[in-house]
Amino acid sequence: MLLSTYRMRIRWHVPKIIFPSAFSQERLLHLKKHKEKWTWTMPQGHDTGIKVKNSYLSTRKLAPLIVKDPNYVTWYACGPTVYDHSHVGHGATYLQFDMIRRILTKYFGLNIAMVMGITNMDNKIINRALLYDKGFMEIADTYESTFMDDMKNLNILPPTSFLRVTDVIPHIVDFIQDIINKKQAYVTGNGNVYFDYNSAHQSIAKLMGEYFEPDISMKEKRFEKDVSLWKTARPGEPYWDAPWGKGRPGWHIECSVIASMCFGNNIDIHTGATDLRFPHHEYEVAQCDAYHRCQQWVNYFLHTGHVKVTGDVKMSKSLGNFVRIVDFLNDCQDPDILRLLCAHNKYTKNFKISDKLSEVEIFFASLTSLLKQCKDIGSGRIKAKVNTPRIEQAIQVFEKGIIKDFQDDFNISQAFTKLRKLMKQIETGFVVQDAPSDVVGVIKAIFVIENFLDNLGFTFHKRI
Ligand SMILES: [Zn+2]
Repeated sequence: MLLSTYRMRIRWHVPKIIFPSAFSQERLLHLKKHKEKWTWTMPQGHDTGIKVKNSYLSTRKLAPLIVKDPNYVTWYACGPTVYDHSHVGHGATYLQFDMIRRILTKYFGLNIAMVMGITNMDNKIINRALLYDKGFMEIADTYESTFMDDMKNLNILPPTSFLRVTDVIPHIVDFIQDIINKKQAYVTGNGNVYFDYNSAHQSIAKLMGEYFEPDISMKEKRFEKDVSLWKTARPGEPYWDAPWGKGRPGWHIECSVIASMCFGNNIDIHTGATDLRFPHHEYEVAQCDAYHRCQQWVNYFLHTGHVKVTGDVKMSKSLGNFVRIVDFLNDCQDPDILRLLCAHNKYTKNFKISDKLSEVEIFFASLTSLLKQCKDIGSGRIKAKVNTPRIEQAIQVFEKGIIKDFQDDFNISQAFTKLRKLMKQIETGFVVQDAPSDVVGVIKAIFVIENFLDNLGFTFHKRI
């Protein structure tokens, strides 16, 4: 089925959601007060020549990407909570970071160690297991497996290491105990443990959340903005032993521990979708600042925009308005269409699938057709007169141009604009005729375009 008919087949269910008031007076005062106390420090090390949108910085100005060691760039990526199929919004985030990771390696010579944490124990997993009368781990294992399949089908490079929450519980317990010892967390009478927001003021305003949603249901907390580090198990829930009682970890502490286990007290890059920026990443940082007694646990936070269905509603499992990756791929003429769609949108921006789908389909067809024609000429099946100098000149302009685009906060869509220009130059650089001529320019064109597609993780050109 062609993707142009895709929109007609999917019935979008768009629930009405109400966002909390954008900025409370209290929050604004807090941000103003504490924003002044901490400023991002540019790291020392290898300047990659790339400028990035670092979420620590509220200005539009891009920051130079400096890594400690180009041969060992550390990158922590928040992984999925495995309670359902992954949707296209997740796929887009992982695809965009996959292209960025490949660019860093292929065009800038950086070797990347990436770690991803998988949340395989959580309220949502417990609720689903109870709903379907299945084991908690059965649910988690099933959807971890479908996540892995989705990533493979999208040709997303696996991280250097995956770590599951249930495999690192002793580390989480030790980490929490350390924060308690440092008086930045406290245990309640019910055996819950909370991170003490007021003890971490300086850390808390680092990523500046867009709003704060107080959890007023937890009356035993000292302060509404304290977050859960350890949750006491209710009857029938899975639990692990800890000095303060049987239970399971809170969400934010999982990533703090996994990332610290692998990379210690300083990480080059940390990524996730923009909805993780606050409170998840903010509290991850605050907890690690408390544990490591450091000023800057992560040097760069990169966040992707949302994939939206319509209007301003993001695609979300919890909102029930999502399209599963597996369904999208079944409907696609080629799995690279989603990667191409992501490549045509700046990773930091929100985008709607429907907005550029037709444009991407047309581009996909014209690039496939051009490559096929070049291969026919290059193999002698079609005779043509080739203007090699003209094609070579266009290739030079393209290759210089895309490096500049990648240096500009990984502007992949701009690089694709340059690819379109190159395609036009190639098309006008040969004329099909009866007599054969040399095919040097065409062979170079195939090499350059396929190399570009390979470097960004595309595979469709291998099937032409
Ligand atoms: Zn995380």
